[in-house]
Amino acid sequence: MTGTRATRRQFLNSAAAGAMAAAFPAPLIAQGAGPSVVIIGGGFGGASCARALRKADPRIAVTLVEANATYTALPHSNAVIGGLTDLSHQQFGYDKIKSAGIHVMLSPATAVDPQGKSVTLADGTELSYERLVVSPGVEFRPGTIQGYDAAARTIMPPAYNDGAEVALIRHQLEAMADGGVVVISSPVNPARCPPAPYERASMIAHYLKTKKPKSKVIVLDAKESFTMQKLFEAAWQKLYPGLIEWVGLSQGGALSQVDAKTKTLSTDFDKYTAAVANIIPPQQAGRVAVLAGVADRTGWCPVDPVTFESKLQKNIHVIGDAAIAGAMPRSASAANSQGAICAAAIAALLAGKTPPAPTLTSSCYSLIAPDYAISQKGTYRPADDQYAEAEGGPVISPQDAPRATRHAEAQDADAWYRAITGAVFG
Ligand SMILES: Cc1cc2nc3c(=O)[nH]c(=O)nc-3n(C[C@H](O)[C@H](O)[C@H](O)COP(=O)(O)OP(=O)(O)OC[C@H]3O[C@@H](n4cnc5c(N)ncnc54)[C@H](O)[C@@H]3O)c2cc1C
Repeated sequence: MTGTRATRRQFLNSAAAGAMAAAFPAPLIAQGAGPSVVIIGGGFGGASCARALRKADPRIAVTLVEANATYTALPHSNAVIGGLTDLSHQQFGYDKIKSAGIHVMLSPATAVDPQGKSVTLADGTELSYERLVVSPGVEFRPGTIQGYDAAARTIMPPAYNDGAEVALIRHQLEAMADGGVVVISSPVNPARCPPAPYERASMIAHYLKTKKPKSKVIVLDAKESFTMQKLFEAAWQKLYPGLIEWVGLSQGGALSQVDAKTKTLSTDFDKYTAAVANIIPPQQAGRVAVLAGVADRTGWCPVDPVTFESKLQKNIHVIGDAAIAGAMPRSASAANSQGAICAAAIAALLAGKTPPAPTLTSSCYSLIAPDYAISQKGTYRPADDQYAEAEGGPVISPQDAPRATRHAEAQDADAWYRAITGAVFG
């Protein structure tokens, strides 16, 4: 196993695996005998990077470390909350990635030694690397909302990095009596997928309109404005009049305290009692970024925009939501694009070449009703040591478009989801 220092037990297991391998034909694409790259995090960033690295140079031995055997994709998960689709459509295993010749270790990374160039997993395995890629997604900043602890999270879940919480909110909505108030708290930026809280409000409103019409949705926002706000608000007016109330920062939208027992949410101005509460706290890079020494005081990871190599640790690259990537949004689309660019850069660096300056893309669709979507697309290039929006700025859905345009975007959103999950996990 290239790049792995095994414990005695693992050595015995791998000896048994070796005997099995002698009895059965080798996989079609065997691990390379060349340099070893370890990738932590098998989400949109890490899994894309692993696949792109194998394609870029099959001699590179690629090991993907992932904490969970099943990955739950968050794009389209708001449609699960709205009752349009099932959680199983969001879930993917790692078998196809394994059969692409990538060594997959299903155990959380618990330590990184940047000097010794090694990663330790919870099961005791130690992996050595020439280059490490870190793509752990986000976690929630502790202590930002008074009373919001692990127990409160089980009652008022974020459903922002955990598939089981998506299913929980869905069940809570089904169990809620007609006339109940659903409260969503939307965090400050930077955060994962800026339009997601408003797409979620739309999907919940769709469910309430069709099944529990006396109910309503309140969005408490820690921001003064939000992405594609005019488009969302015009659609809400048209599709869900009076059903969604948005409370911005200056109207007292910033959540400061919760009482999980009574499902009471307090801001500096008011108290709200929710039948269902979806608390989305402020965020930072996943914990392993701190363990690897690649997160700065902001909680996010500064990187070189051409190679995604950390500005704090040599030979460690950070991609996806954890990275500070200038104007690029924290999206699956961006993470996928960054995974491919980072893989090309690593292959070039390992071959002693200089990677060229890249161009990256991101497209983000928001479903407002089953046949009604809006989107924001962008192209990004390095400028002044950061990613800047390419000339012309983002391409956003037109404000006054006929219903057919929104319908076509809903179909595009579906096609985009199938294409990206097929390319990364299929
Ligand atoms: C409700 C919602 C809707 C969204 N909709 C869209 C959309 O429409 N379009 C879009 O482009 N994006 C969307 N996103 C954003 C998208 O989900 C993220 O931007 C994307 O998943 C980021 O990819 P990533 O690789 O950085 O992190 P993730 O996809 O979260 O992957 C991180 C992985 O790392 C693993 N991990 C973490 N720590 C460790 C460790 N120590 N050891 C091993 N493994 C570890 C985790 O288990 C996880 O599998 C949405 C997000 C949400 C919450």
